[in-house]
Amino acid sequence: DLAGRMNERVADVVKFMINQGEMLRGNDIVDADTAELIAEEFGHTVKRVAESDVEIGLEGEADDPASMKPRPPIVTIMGHVDHGKTSLLDALRSTDVVSGEAGGITQHIGAYQVQLKSGQKITFLDTPGHSAFTAMRARGANATDIAILVVAADDSVMPQTIESINHAKAAGVPLIIAVNKIDLHDAQPEKVLTDLLQHDIQVESMGGSTQAVQVSAKSRIGLDELTDAITLQAELLELAANPDRAADGVVIESQLDKGRGPVATILVNRGTLKRGDIVVAGAQWGKVRAITDERGQQLADAGPSLPVEVLGLDGAPDPGEPFVVVDTEARAREITEYRVRNKRQVSGKAGAAARASLDQLLSRLKDGTVETSELPVVVKGDVQGSVEAISMSLDKISTEEVRARVIHGAVGGISESDVLLARSSNAPIFAFNVRANKQARDLAEKEGVEIRYYSVIYDLIDDVKSTLSGMLAPEK
Ligand code: GDP
Repeated sequence: DLAGRMNERVADVVKFMINQGEMLRGNDIVDADTAELIAEEFGHTVKRVAESDVEIGLEGEADDPASMKPRPPIVTIMGHVDHGKTSLLDALRSTDVVSGEAGGITQHIGAYQVQLKSGQKITFLDTPGHSAFTAMRARGANATDIAILVVAADDSVMPQTIESINHAKAAGVPLIIAVNKIDLHDAQPEKVLTDLLQHDIQVESMGGSTQAVQVSAKSRIGLDELTDAITLQAELLELAANPDRAADGVVIESQLDKGRGPVATILVNRGTLKRGDIVVAGAQWGKVRAITDERGQQLADAGPSLPVEVLGLDGAPDPGEPFVVVDTEARAREITEYRVRNKRQVSGKAGAAARASLDQLLSRLKDGTVETSELPVVVKGDVQGSVEAISMSLDKISTEEVRARVIHGAVGGISESDVLLARSSNAPIFAFNVRANKQARDLAEKEGVEIRYYSVIYDLIDDVKSTLSGMLAPEK
């Protein structure tokens, strides 16, 4: 196809590639970069036309600002276990004004949208907790605009509260604090707010910029205030998307249904998904046979931020996988075949392309593929004192040009959640007198996250120091 479009003989293209050391046959698939290289070698000028030509990124062209229309915010609920995430998600469902007529939200599809009295809409991701959030981010999807941090007023800030704060910060997602369980007689909402100060969260009543709302999921107190806070935050973010284009977005959930086949819940980022569209999601593709909302209603199409279930894919894509609409079935087949092959190639050693190792970072700095002056790190230690001492020492050795930034520092062994956070921020993990559990080790291996173990703070600091100096003076 490429030879044809260049008006060259297939044999010449194949010969050229073999000379380059690539054993290629006539109907093999080459990625866009290779195709570009070949075309240039043959003296042609390359213009990337289809958005899906920009494999694997699929970024496409930016939208004309005039085409942008406001879209509802996508909200995730995070917080410590038992602080009321699920209860709050359930309570918020009933803020929906259209439920009454349409029979309400009947099925859990991984996300739901409510329409408020004001007419505003909010989309909630239905999988509470930061692990789902970070797992998606690790696949490159930033499917959240705003995070609600639930903190129980009788328990205040707990380890997973802190993790949630750090995960949201690393993703650059603004937080709204929901101080929950204020119906309890031993509730101490003020204590929650002061405790949060220690984690760099300053709420408005304390002169900061983070909104905080007192709620009770159980007694249904403060829900309107919470949705108001979300709406306000969404306005500040000026969330907008062009609805009049081919859709792309992200997979939220998927399953193989006995009767219906593969079912995927998706969120459209921009554009409008229509029945009959040809969709590629990860290594799966298909023609959209049906679009259903969480009320079980059939829709002809779905615009930005509306969570819907789609039928028609040839398999169940992973949550966090991006999806995009393409022009033809041939194109869809081409991309998925390419991805399957690419996956096979990279799933071995290269797949763990040591994304988050210090050495890798350094070599990428040296060859100029990345430019950074900041080294994000995750620090896990045996006691709070050592974690603090490490964070402070790292601060001290940082200069104006280069600095080590602790995106998450906590007490305890290394968990899968730590690895996912490190992976999505390209950070190594420094373990001080703690180990990683088996799942975390396996995941780190698979995702190419480096874990360095130390028992002497000085060694750790020394390592970072030399890394930072390497960042300062990249040898060209
Ligand atoms: P999650 O683990 O964060 O999802 O927490 P759940 O939503 O499962 O709630 C944990 C427990 O706290 C359950 O027993 C809930 O009934 C209770 N709970 C949740 N919200 C409130 C609340 O506002 N007030 C009171 N008193 N209990 C609550």
